Order: sequence, then C-alpha cells, then structure tokens
Amino acid sequence: MIKVRFAPSPSGYVHIGNIKTAIFNWLFLLSEKQKGNDGKFLLRIDDTDLSRTKQEYIDAVKEDVKWFGIDWDESFHQSSRFDRYNECFEKLKAEGRVYVCYETAEELEAKRKRQIARKVAPVYDRSALNLTEEDKKRLEAEGRKPYWRFKLNEGDVIFNDLVKGECKFNMKHLSDPVIIREDGTYLYNFPSVIDDMDSGITHIIRGQDHLTNTAMQIQMFEALGAKFIPQFAHYPMILNAEGHKFSKRESDISIRNLKNDGIEAMTIANILVGLGSANGGKMHKNMEELASTFALSNYGSAFSRFDMDTFYKENGKLLRVLDFDDVKDRLVLIDGRIDSKFWNMVRGNIDKLSDISYWVNVVYGDIEAPALSSDEKTFLNSALSSLPVSDFNENTMKIWANAITDATGKKGRDLYHPIRLCLTGIEYGPELSALLPLIGREKVIERIKKSI
Ligand code: GLU
Repeated sequence: MIKVRFAPSPSGYVHIGNIKTAIFNWLFLLSEKQKGNDGKFLLRIDDTDLSRTKQEYIDAVKEDVKWFGIDWDESFHQSSRFDRYNECFEKLKAEGRVYVCYETAEELEAKRKRQIARKVAPVYDRSALNLTEEDKKRLEAEGRKPYWRFKLNEGDVIFNDLVKGECKFNMKHLSDPVIIREDGTYLYNFPSVIDDMDSGITHIIRGQDHLTNTAMQIQMFEALGAKFIPQFAHYPMILNAEGHKFSKRESDISIRNLKNDGIEAMTIANILVGLGSANGGKMHKNMEELASTFALSNYGSAFSRFDMDTFYKENGKLLRVLDFDDVKDRLVLIDGRIDSKFWNMVRGNIDKLSDISYWVNVVYGDIEAPALSSDEKTFLNSALSSLPVSDFNENTMKIWANAITDATGKKGRDLYHPIRLCLTGIEYGPELSALLPLIGREKVIERIKKSI
C-alpha cells in the first residue's frame, strides 16, 4: 500500500510552488493505481505555528486542491498532535538525542561571521553541549529562554532519491537543527517526521529545497525507531525567466488569482509537470491522462526556467484538446445555447473559456462592427446582391464566395476580410463557413446593411 501526502503550511494562499508538490504527489499515486497498486493520499495541515495560521488559508488550501481534482482519503491538523510530539520529544530527551541551547540570534550570527572569516563552514559549534546545570540556571536567571536542537550523528547519510539517484550527505557539514523554538513552538522538521512515521507515509515527494532536511529527517526517523523510512523524491525547482528564484511578487501569484483570471487547472498542471520532464510539452485534458505519462524518472536535477505568462499563453492550447463533454457543465453557466457543434467551432479561437461569450454574441446577439472604408462598403454592397437565397449550411460560404468572385473579381483576403469584419466585428475567428449557418441569413443581411 502506497501512501503520499501534501502538507502545506496555511500561512498564505496556495501558490505554484505548493501546488506543484500536491500535483506531483497526486499524479504519482494515480500512476501507481493505473499500474494496479493501491494507495492513499493524506492532506496534512502543517499548522504548528498557530500565530501564522488562518482559517481562511486552510479553507483556501482545500478549495484550491479540489479544483485540480485532487481528493484526499485522510486529513488532519498538526495542531491536534502536540501531545504526541511532546511524547516523542521526551523520548529523545531521555536518550540525550536533543539538547537545550540559550544563544540569542545575535550571538549565533556573530559566531557564523567569525567562522566565515576563518574560512570554516558555518556549522553550529555545539557549545551548548558543554553547559553545566549551574550554567543553565544562570542563563535562565538572566532571562534567556531555552530552545532545543536535535543532535545529528556523525558520518554519511545516504539515500536513493527517486529523481536524483544516490544522494550522500556528510553530516559534519550540517548544523544540528533547532526543533523547538524559544517560545516553545515546534519547527517543521521534527513534527513532520513523527507524522510521516505515524501515518505510514511510504513516499515523500517534494522540491529539491528540502534535500538537506531529508538527510536530517532520516536520522530523526531512525532515532524515533520508525519501522521503515519512506522513499524520497526531490523534483527540480523552477526559476523565473531570468534564471533567478521567483521574487516575492511572482511567487505571490496565487492559484486563486490564476483561476480568477480564467486559467484552467489543467493548464497549470500540464505546464508544471512538463517543466524539466523528458516528455513535457503536450496538453492532457485531465489528471488521469496526465498521470499515464507521469514518472518521477522523467525528471533530472537541472532547474527549469519559467515565465508566469506561459499560463496565459498556453491556456488556449488546453481548450483546443477539450471536448464538449469536458466543459459542458461550465458552458451551461456561460450560455445554455452552446452545444457541441458550437464548442467545436470556437474552441480553436479562444484563450479562456469565458471568451466564448463573444462568439455567443456574434451568433445570437449583437456585435459592434468597425467602420469600413468606402471601397469595402462598395464591395459589401455587391456581395449582398450575390448572397444565396437558399437555407444556409456549411457550403453556403463557398457558394457565396464564388458568386462574389464572379461579380467583383475579388478573392482571398480581399474577399473574406471585409465580410469577416462586418459579420463578426473582429479580424480572426472560427471558419466563416461554420459561422454563417449559425448566424443565419436574416442577421447576415442586417449586419451588411448596417455596415454599408
Ligand atoms: N509544511 C512543509 C512545507 O510546506 C512540508 C514540507 C514537506 O513536504 O515535508 O514546506
């Protein structure tokens, strides 16, 4: 049984970095299910820092994740598990695997600077391990607050990453991680391991920014006596178009902003999954289809560059692969008159689903055609007299065009451009042969007369 988890910290709205983790975990699970393996998805709310948590963000996480069709089998909040974290902490304390420290942030920073000046790796020097009981009492009497570190074992931590292959960390290059802050709250690393262990998580899939956490967390799993250590997969990070980490402004673009702008969830999923993948670039209409192409081994270590505009540029590309059935429920909300014929006609010409309203107006409502030149008016006047009288169908435009050419000598763009402008108001759009029967003879005559 496979078990994956998405563990956001609800201190803001979900952005592309977070959602990428949710999507990767979901697709990994779906792809395993497609191979016949069973599995579960856990949504864990990492709210140990209650001062930064807001209910609004928790609700938003759930809503945003669901928008991608991601559905969890279990969910819990870390804030409901403090007793369990304390229990594990006491166990490690009794075993001497955690130790108390009293340095202030300024003192630590000064140490770091001295180490860097001496060209020594800025690793915490463990001086707190030498404190006697009297020292500790004195420091507390001074008003200092204790905080706690996990003591890393020396030697190498080696693990086989499902994306990166073998990863090796010499632990002497890492500082013992702080697990409890001065204010008594837990930092992310330690509760996460306890939860992953207790929940039976088999695969931890996350960004490469967590690689060193993994090395430390593997020692925590061991210290806590975990029955097994999950498999890890660290996918490559994304950089902005200039090759830098995303700025605050860029990374603040939340999933709900994109959604409100009319970007489809599957556009976002396809693009994020395609970045850095050996078989990216194609649009898949739903998560099942995307999962069937997904494999962690598709990715390497190289970071991908990415421009937020890509979502806007590629959204239309997704719409072109969607069938009427994929969108009909949402189309009903836009206009109940849109049927599969209408959808097939316009999907190649819209960038957002809501753009379809324009074409609803072209067919059923009114449009504002731009002013035409006197030559164009003369041409349309003549075109009007060549308009077929029989009922309009897909052949009507061709018959009409031939008649116009016979009468005026015009063809190609000279012929189609004024007709398109007059009938649709804009220069591009679906084939006129498909539009004409939908607009109908009466409206065609009315629009030409109005233009000339
Ligand atoms: N709450 C952590 C974060 O959002 C979870 C990281 C993890 O996947 O272990 O970074």
